[in-house]
Formats: sequence, C-alpha cells, structure tokens
Amino acid sequence: MRKFSANYIFDGLGNFYKNGILKIDDDGSIIELIDTNGNLVEENKLEFYNGIITPGFVNSHCHLELSYLKNKIKEGTSLPNFISSVLENKHLNIENANLEMKNADEQMKREGIVAVGDISNNSSSFQTKINSKIKYHTFIELIGIDANDIDKIEIFARNIKKEAQKLNLSNNYTPHATYSVSEKLLKFITDDAYKTNSIISIHNQETESENEMFLAAKGELLKSLQKINPYYKKFKPSLFNSLPSTMINLPKCNKTLLVHNTFTSEKDIKWVNNYTKYAYWCLCPKSNLFIENKLPNINLFANEKVCIGTDSLASNTSLSILEELKTINFTFPNIDLVILLKWATYNGAEALNLQDKIGSFEKGKIPGINLIENINFTDMAFNEQSRVKVLF
Ligand SMILES: [Zn+2]
Repeated sequence: MRKFSANYIFDGLGNFYKNGILKIDDDGSIIELIDTNGNLVEENKLEFYNGIITPGFVNSHCHLELSYLKNKIKEGTSLPNFISSVLENKHLNIENANLEMKNADEQMKREGIVAVGDISNNSSSFQTKINSKIKYHTFIELIGIDANDIDKIEIFARNIKKEAQKLNLSNNYTPHATYSVSEKLLKFITDDAYKTNSIISIHNQETESENEMFLAAKGELLKSLQKINPYYKKFKPSLFNSLPSTMINLPKCNKTLLVHNTFTSEKDIKWVNNYTKYAYWCLCPKSNLFIENKLPNINLFANEKVCIGTDSLASNTSLSILEELKTINFTFPNIDLVILLKWATYNGAEALNLQDKIGSFEKGKIPGINLIENINFTDMAFNEQSRVKVLF
C-alpha cells in the first residue's frame, strides 16, 4: 500500500481535498480518499508532494498514425490548407513511422495520459497500441462524400475492423467530419452504432468556411475540397450550419464526441442539447491555434460536458493534456481549475465508456496518479512552468 498527500487532491469528480490523503493498493487500485479538512497530521510512510494530485488524464482525440507528420506542416494556414498539406505529405512513406508512433505513445505516458480516443484511417498504429500501457479506443474513421462509393468504403471499413478485433483493440466506426461523409455513409455508421452501442467522434466546425459551405455552398473549404474531389462541385447547401445539418443523420442515443468546435455558436449548442443528451464537446485548443490561430469561445461550453484532446503531432507541438489545459486557463482564467481538471479526467473517461475503470479516485478504480507541480496557489491557476509528474 502507498499513501499520498499534497497541497490539494482533485478527485476527478469536481472537488479539491485540501491536504487530503489518497491510499492505493500495490496494483494502483484506489483504497480510499480521505478528507482531512486541511489538517494533515504526519503519519508513517505518507508521501507528501507540493502541487495538485489528480487522476490520470484522458486524451479524447488523437491520431497516433499521423505522428510522422511532426514538424512537417506549416502553422497558421487554416484548415483547407492544412488538409492539402496532410494529403501532399501522405507519400512520405517514412520508415520510422512506427518509431514516431512509439515516441508519441511514450510522450503521452510521461504526460500522465492513461487513455486515448484515437482516430485511425488504417491499421498502421495497431501494433503500437497493443504494446502500450495506455488504454486506446480506436475510432475507425470513414470518409466519402460520393454515395456511389459506399460499397467500397464498407469493404474497407470491415477489413480494418477485422484487424482491430483480431488484436482485441476496442474500436468502432466513426465519420471523419461534417463535410466529408455522404448521408449513405452516415447511415451505415449510425446503423452500426445502434447495433453495437458504439461511440461517435466527428470533427466539427473547425474552420469558419465549414458553416459557409452548408449555408450557401461557398467559401474556402468548399473551394479547396472541389480541387481535391470534383464531386464537391455538386454539393448542395442545407441552409443550416454544418453541425445540425450532419447531426440530424447521427444517432440520438449514442455518446457523440464533437471535436474542435472552434466556430460553434450558442444556437448550435442549444440545438445539440435539444437533439441528444449524449454530446461531449471535445476541445483541442493547441491544435486550433496551430491550424487556425483561433480558439473556440470556451465560455460558451463552461456548463456543457467537455473533454480534452491533443489532436495529432501534425497539428500540435506536444501530446500533453496539461499543455491544453494551460492554454485554456491562460485565455479563460474565469473557468475554475476544478472544472478544467474534470474535463481532463472524469469527462474524458465517461466519453470513452471507461468511467468504471479510470477518471476518478473512487474505490476499486485504477485511474493512474498524476502530480501537477508549480501551481499558482494564490489564484488557483497554472503557471508557464506547471508540469506533470506521474506518481503511479
Ligand atoms: Zn482530429
């Protein structure tokens, strides 16, 4: 057994325990979290740390397979150009792609990440995942705007799924983005989601012209998609924002991670809350700054179910949930640290259906134990120097 204490222990559920004591078994399972009411009495073998102790972090959105694009894509060029750059670099069949994925996985471990919702367009990341201590849920991402391609896509999807299942990797199908899937493909994904109670994860409103495309068949995104695939010349606007236009074809009763939300309006949020009770707003602020040099208005989401993702090394300089939280904390200091920490722990675990195993310090769970050092305790805020140390 080990006993930990710190200035504060965050329980994952939204509470700080000042000078609390956390007891764990040798395998890391939680025995109990004791509220000392701030009066810590010295006891034998109690490990005291300066900082905040939290459950392990959940990275709700990553693309491990894009790790080879680290330092390859120019910053701040906006989503349409980002997509073109990723496609241009696809020929880089880099020999050390596996090494880059392994490094990325190890970086996440060092950053106290215990679970990842990972997008896969192919099976290249599967070996790294099965050899990792991190719990991965693989979203097999499907793309296809032309309904005539549906048979081809279904065969492709089923083949990747077979590979994932052979390796016992938790997985399900998911659509890429609002602007890249036909209604037929959404129906295939939705039918499967109903049958298997799977989780949906979709890139949402990452660039301003995504809404323009659906409202009026105009804008930079549509122009650039038309260059990649002439089928987009036939694109018909729905006259609504991209989010409601797409979500109407997604299941109401499955957990749905809406990823990015940089250009999501208050009206969109209301619409989603009327449509489903199972939406999670996954924020990836450092990726938004990298690609669009813009953050969502995170104040709009303060009362919503939010989780946090890093996105991939193609659009981020690190895979660290704490760095994402710092970015939010420095720009939106009005949002309490307990809220941010819940987004990074319990909410992420719940979004990936892992809430019974990780995400909080509740008896029997093995959530991992992080220490965040260098906290500004006067303002209960992060510093530039705030860092994660994995305690278990
Ligand atoms: Zn992404």
